[in-house]
Amino acid sequence: MSHRTHLLGFPRIGAKRELKALLESHWKHELDEAALLQGAKALRQKHWLLQKGAGVALSPVGDFSLYDHVLDAQLLVGAVPPRFGFDAAALTTAQYFELARGNRDQPALEMTKWFDTNYHYLVPEWQADTAFAAQPQRLLAQVREARALGMAAKPVLLGPLSLLWLGKAKGAAFDKLALLPGLIAAYRELLAALRAEGVEWTQLDEPILALDLAPAWRDAFAPAYAELSPHAPKLLLATYFGGVAEHAAWLKALPVAGLHLDLVRAPEQLDAFAPGYPADKVLSAGVIDGRNIWRADLSALLQRLAPLAEQLGDRLWLAPSCSLLHCPFDAAAETALDAELKNWLAFAVQKLNELNTLQRGLAQGRAAIASELAGSDFAREQRRASPRSHDPAVARRLAELPEHADRRASAYPIRAEKQQAWLKLPPLPTTTIGSFPQTPAIRASRAAFKKGELAAADYQAAMEQEIELAIRRQEALGLDVLVHGEAERNDMVEYFGEQLAGFAFTQGGWVQSYGSRCVKPPLIYGDVSRPAAMTVSWARYAQSLSAKPVKGMLTGPVTILQWSFVRDDLPRSEVCRQIALALNDEVRDLEAAGIRVIQIDEPAIREGLPLKRGQRDGYLAWAGEAFRLSSHGVDDATQIHTHMCYSEFGDILPAIAALDADVITIETSRSDMALLADFGRFHYPNAIGPGVYDIHSPRVPTAQEIRALLRKALQVIPAERLWINPDCGLKTRGWPEVEAALAAMVAVGRELRQTLAHTA
Ligand code: GLN
Ligand code: ZN
Repeated sequence: MSHRTHLLGFPRIGAKRELKALLESHWKHELDEAALLQGAKALRQKHWLLQKGAGVALSPVGDFSLYDHVLDAQLLVGAVPPRFGFDAAALTTAQYFELARGNRDQPALEMTKWFDTNYHYLVPEWQADTAFAAQPQRLLAQVREARALGMAAKPVLLGPLSLLWLGKAKGAAFDKLALLPGLIAAYRELLAALRAEGVEWTQLDEPILALDLAPAWRDAFAPAYAELSPHAPKLLLATYFGGVAEHAAWLKALPVAGLHLDLVRAPEQLDAFAPGYPADKVLSAGVIDGRNIWRADLSALLQRLAPLAEQLGDRLWLAPSCSLLHCPFDAAAETALDAELKNWLAFAVQKLNELNTLQRGLAQGRAAIASELAGSDFAREQRRASPRSHDPAVARRLAELPEHADRRASAYPIRAEKQQAWLKLPPLPTTTIGSFPQTPAIRASRAAFKKGELAAADYQAAMEQEIELAIRRQEALGLDVLVHGEAERNDMVEYFGEQLAGFAFTQGGWVQSYGSRCVKPPLIYGDVSRPAAMTVSWARYAQSLSAKPVKGMLTGPVTILQWSFVRDDLPRSEVCRQIALALNDEVRDLEAAGIRVIQIDEPAIREGLPLKRGQRDGYLAWAGEAFRLSSHGVDDATQIHTHMCYSEFGDILPAIAALDADVITIETSRSDMALLADFGRFHYPNAIGPGVYDIHSPRVPTAQEIRALLRKALQVIPAERLWINPDCGLKTRGWPEVEAALAAMVAVGRELRQTLAHTA
């Protein structure tokens, strides 16, 4: 008996981010199109051969993309937004990149997050009259490429329902499902072409099944797949990022040849599928975690899978839970991590081997994989017992937290009064979100310091000079609450992670974020604590330069958690609480150092929301508690700010209010203050600073624009609770535009104050 192993997708960026290099030199006109395409082909081949070498039975084809697989899916069905004026049947590579990145006349397709990952896809644009026509050529060419290498190729396509759902309806309102018949016809043609090519299996990804799907969408699946399957290769319908147990009955009856389930995110869903699993279907068990970087517990997996293998025989397939796109490439390439920690990791390459070991263990028995099992058990046991991952003091501290430790001593109105007693801020106080321009000089100092070319004292002096510059400029501008400017920070999560115990950083652990962009998330492997103050000296220095209050600047626990790879042996909520306590140490030290306005940024709270509504309240409860814990125990007179940079939180306002920050600054300018209406209707209780200009563009806002936005804000937020600030941090901007924009902002603030004084 043998269980096939397969992958839903593989990291296309390459072990050394080769694709990034290819793309960026092509975009800079240093590499011509032929060389780019040749390089991409070589990369695909390398990845296929790697998979073959690791014994993967079915390799994905079509998961590779020059920019984005959702864009590729749109092009496969010939759906090019008409605003570009391109011919879908003859799309050039240059046009492909114009869709992805925009051109002189047209902005790029909008980008948004791929479910709950940090990958961003290009949003399809649907119109009532969008027409589809299959364009299978590129995919067929890749199938032939893979076959030429002797691969068993399994084309991977985004499924029709998910593709349609992920797109945005443009123009006159219409029901997206009205486009389904045309789309299905195009898919039928695509699949028929694959079948004619001799393809045995094709994977159709339908990740929307893990969301709360409206009945109309759910009910569209069966008829759609009934139309597809007669002309198609064998279809494997892949679900991931969550459980689909509520759909088990109809999924089991769907006319497809196999189902893939994410048994890492939702192991319990097996109970809904295994009993009476249809005899004509393959079940692909996604048991290797495609979303995290830890070694699998092979022994436990073998045990879990044994009854399933017994039941299904070779109709049981083995796979990672989802595409390995979300994993870094190769842990073996890490040379700076300590050996113990490194032995706990499995990046994409290691996961291929785990899959192979599992397959052999199931087929031939434990004895056949004795040494691999011993290795896996050893790593597991070492991790479980290691003082590296367990710090009893952290556990004790959390256990000993008194009940309601996360609550401020007094309610907001009392705190606000005590804060104002010493702050003596004018009405409509002005501030910024934290960072000021990261000039080439700042970057050069930081790089030299990291390379050991700049002595610590010289680096400190350089940063202090930047702080002084920022303070002087803010004073000259007349801002009310100042910041030190964050010159010492490149990436904020990296800045804090590097100083916290329990975090590690890789050299090559890159994960694609979008196009050629990658991120390198820190690894949280152990109990988190703060060995020493992280920001106090910078803040104290800044405060020493001014009589105005300087706002301390921290990144919040939920954001740090969300942008890291998190240990899988503790609940995320627990890790978040640990980070919160570590940050709380910093908050208290800042307070003791006289920094009594402290901002704790939480730009990632919203993106941590679970995909299923039913799980959201639970998440928001622990995320909110962690935020409050990070500032617990501060004096009523200490003013806690938070900042979030997105404009859709109408749906989570109660949770935002429950953070109980004294002041929240949010992005609003691009939505023309639309968000504020939500805040007004909700009667948001504390102070709020709606961003009055968009920092994503170098454009300097006019006083008139700022005035108009603030007038709107004043209609829904009482003046005594309204702050004035930009949308977000200014680190990507240049000083001239920042000074001009802030000058306009401060001037409008002063003018409005006078008006208020007159009307009062
Ligand atoms: N304080 C940070 C800054 O100003 C906030 C960044 C963010 O919200 N993403 O850069
Ligand atoms: Zn922001």
